[in-house]
Amino acid sequence: MRRAGGVIFLGLLFIAQAAQSATVNGVRVWRAPDHTRIVLDLDAPAQHSLTLANNPDRIILDVPASQLNAGLTKLPLADTPVLAIRSYVQNKTDLRLVLDLKAKIAPNSFLLKAHGGMHDRLVIDLYDEPAATSTAVSTTAVSEKPAAVNEKLAASPAVNNPPPSTAPVAATKPAPAPTVNDKTPAPANVDLQGKRTIIIAVDAGHGGEDPGAMGPNRIREKEVTLAIAKELIAAINAQPGFSGKLTRTGDYFIPLKKRRDIARTMKADLFVSIHADAFHKASARGASVFALSRNGATSETARFLAERENESDLIGGVGNISLDDKDQVLAGVLVDLSMTATLNSSLQVGHHVLSSLGGIAHLHKRHVEQAGFMVLKSPDVPSILVETGFISNPDESRKLATQAYRKQMASSVFKGIRQYFYQHPPAGTYVAAQLQSGGIKDFERQHTVVAGDSLSAIAARYGVSSQQLMRHNNMKDSVVKLGQVLRIPVNGTSAAVAPIAVAPVAPTTLPVSRPIIPQTAALPRQHKVIAGDTLSGIATRYGVSVTQLLRHNNMKNPTVKIGQTIKIPAS
Ligand SMILES: [Zn+2]
Repeated sequence: MRRAGGVIFLGLLFIAQAAQSATVNGVRVWRAPDHTRIVLDLDAPAQHSLTLANNPDRIILDVPASQLNAGLTKLPLADTPVLAIRSYVQNKTDLRLVLDLKAKIAPNSFLLKAHGGMHDRLVIDLYDEPAATSTAVSTTAVSEKPAAVNEKLAASPAVNNPPPSTAPVAATKPAPAPTVNDKTPAPANVDLQGKRTIIIAVDAGHGGEDPGAMGPNRIREKEVTLAIAKELIAAINAQPGFSGKLTRTGDYFIPLKKRRDIARTMKADLFVSIHADAFHKASARGASVFALSRNGATSETARFLAERENESDLIGGVGNISLDDKDQVLAGVLVDLSMTATLNSSLQVGHHVLSSLGGIAHLHKRHVEQAGFMVLKSPDVPSILVETGFISNPDESRKLATQAYRKQMASSVFKGIRQYFYQHPPAGTYVAAQLQSGGIKDFERQHTVVAGDSLSAIAARYGVSSQQLMRHNNMKDSVVKLGQVLRIPVNGTSAAVAPIAVAPVAPTTLPVSRPIIPQTAALPRQHKVIAGDTLSGIATRYGVSVTQLLRHNNMKNPTVKIGQTIKIPAS
C-alpha cells in the first residue's frame, strides 16, 4: 500500500512539473503606431511574472521552469522602446528575460492559448508614453547578473527574488487606451471650398500575429490586404471630395472592435474591410462583398467566412478583453433604428462595389452576402467587407500577388464606392455641392434593382421617364429583375444630377424565389410571413424598425406566425 501510494505521489509531481515546463521556441517583435508587441512562442502554457524596474529602465520577465531556444540578437528593435533583450537562467530551471528600455512605456502581458495552428504564446505589449499618473516604480535596482554569476548565486534567495520594493506589474493590469493611429498622411483635399470630404476608412484585414489565410505560393493574406488597402487609399485620395484613411498602416494586429472604433473616431462615412480568405475547397473562387446580418448568414460560405474572420482576436491576441462581443448597447430602440438605416446603406454601397468588381473579376455570388461579421457591427458607420478573391485558389492567389492586379482591384472597389456616394452624397460635403451645381458630369448613374422596385418607380426616383430608361438600357419591355443594373440617363438639366434623397431600400438578399412585393406610393405594403421569417428580418428587408412594425400592427411581442400578414409602415 505504502509503495503504491508513493508511486501515485511521484506521478502527480511529474504532471504538475510537466504542466509548468515550457520552451520558448521563437521571439517576434511587432511595432504598431501606439505600442510594441513582443511575442514568445511556447510549446506549452507557462506561468510568468512581469516587473517594471528603473535605474536603468527595464522590464524583467520571469518564466519559471522554462528555457530559451531562440535567438535574441537579430530582433527588429530599432523603432521600438526596447534597446536590447537579455536572457538568464535562474535556479538552473527558470528563464528570466530582461528588456532594456530607451523610452517610457506601460506594459501589459498575457498568455494566448494555442488556436488555429498557432502555439501557446506569451504576449508582452509595451504601450508608448504612459500618462504621468501611471504605475509608480521603485527606484531600487533589481539584481540580474550575467548568466555565469547568476548560476553560482542560484542558491541565494536574495538574488533570485526581486526586492519587495520593486513594483510588480500585474498581468491583468488594463492597458491604457491606445491613441488612434494618426500616422496616415493627411490628404491634400481635406477641405474644399469650406465643404468637408467624404471619409472612407480602409481596413486591411488581419496583421501582426494574425497572418490570415495562406495561399499555395505561401503568400499571406495580411500582406495582400495591406497592399490592396494602400492602393485603395491612393485611388480615394486622388479623387477630389474624398479622403481615405487606413485603420492599420503596417504589420501589426488590431482587435476587431478597435477597427470599428478607429473608423468612428475618423468620423468615417464608410468602413471597408479588405480580405482575401481561403476556403477548404481550392476550386472556390471569385470576389464577393459582405454586409452584417442580424439574423444568420445568407449562405454556408458566408457563415464559414464570418466564423473564420471572427476568430481573428483569438489568433492575433486580445489581452484581458472579453471576446464575448454582445454589444449590450445595441439593445436600444434608437440604436435599432440607426442600425437598420446603416445596414441599408451598407447593402446599397455593397451592390455598387459588387457590380463594379464584376467588371474585372469573377464574382463568387451575384448579390451582397450577409453574415455576423464582428468587424462590421458599427451601429452608425455603413460597413462592408470585400473578399477580393480566394487566396486558396491557385489562379486567384497568383493574381493577388501582383501589384497590377492589386491596383486594378483597388480602383474597381473605389469606383463602386464613388458611384454610391454620387447617388447618396452626405449633406455638407464637397461632392454634394458639386452634384448640385452640375460640377460632376463624368459619372454614369446606375441603379441595382432591389425587392419592390418597378421600372416606373425607378424612373420617378431619378426624374426620368420609363421610356428613357428602356431606351437607354436596350430593354424590350418594362420587366425588371432582382439584381439587374440599370444605367440612368442624364437629362441634361441640373435637376437630373441633383443629389437623390437616401431612401431606405429593402435589401436584396432574400431568395429570388420569394414574391417581389409591388412598391408604389399608392399601395400599402404587406408581408406574408413564411418559414424562417423573423420580425427583425422583415424590418430590415423593408427598411423599417422592429418598433415601427410592432406599433403599426398592434403587436405586443415580436413573435410572428407562418401565414400572418404584416402591414409595412411607410418608412
Ligand atoms: Zn480575412
